[in-house]
Amino acid sequence: MNQPARKILNFFYPNRCPKCGVFLFPAETLCESCAEEILLEQDAYCHTCGKTNCICKYKSLAYDKAVVACRYDRQTAPAVYALKEAKNTNFAYFAARILAQRLLHGSYYETEKINYIMPVPMHISKQRKRGYNQAGVIAKELSEILQLPYRDDVLYKSKSSIEQHKLHSAAEREKNVESFGIHDISLENCRILLCDDVLTTGSTMNRCAELLKQNHAVFVIAAAASSTTPREKEQENNF
Ligand SMILES: [Zn+2]
Ligand SMILES: [Zn+2]
Repeated sequence: MNQPARKILNFFYPNRCPKCGVFLFPAETLCESCAEEILLEQDAYCHTCGKTNCICKYKSLAYDKAVVACRYDRQTAPAVYALKEAKNTNFAYFAARILAQRLLHGSYYETEKINYIMPVPMHISKQRKRGYNQAGVIAKELSEILQLPYRDDVLYKSKSSIEQHKLHSAAEREKNVESFGIHDISLENCRILLCDDVLTTGSTMNRCAELLKQNHAVFVIAAAASSTTPREKEQENNF
């Protein structure tokens, strides 16, 4: 969101930290201490799968690289829920800024070669009810910061299903990701930055990346605002 729009919004709805609720200046997204608590260090996760406990040994992934901003745990949950429940979108802006910094640092992600930034889709009826797709808020903010095109007309979700992080078994998760689809749009030689709010087992990002590659995308970077840290055993069972 641009600064004037944020200022107008702040006049009617005072800006608050989505985690602890303290008042913030208009340009701030989280208070300093909350930001410090939820940030996931850049070297604390695998840059291929996006997990703190690497899952690359369990499954070959359809996405090529991953970038993550925050840890998803009890500390982060209030900020993520505020975003999901359309109460406060600051977490999306905060995460997008961190993701952009990481994507632009060095040459690892070759960010300048990205053709499109896309969100993991949400079913249209759910999106209408909420007013937005939270992954879309993150993706749009990233597209504004990085000055790269945003597209939400390629991937779709065919039916409303339970959010991935609420499902525990591998079978449940696999069934849930089947509802993603892709329109007949050629992505020949395209490099895509795919965004989501929470990276759990990687099944959702993986399914969307598979679909993008079916349409001939050559490279997919999974960008997650947050990433969970499941116990080793749980992770093994999920693949
Ligand atoms: Zn705070
Ligand atoms: Zn890994």
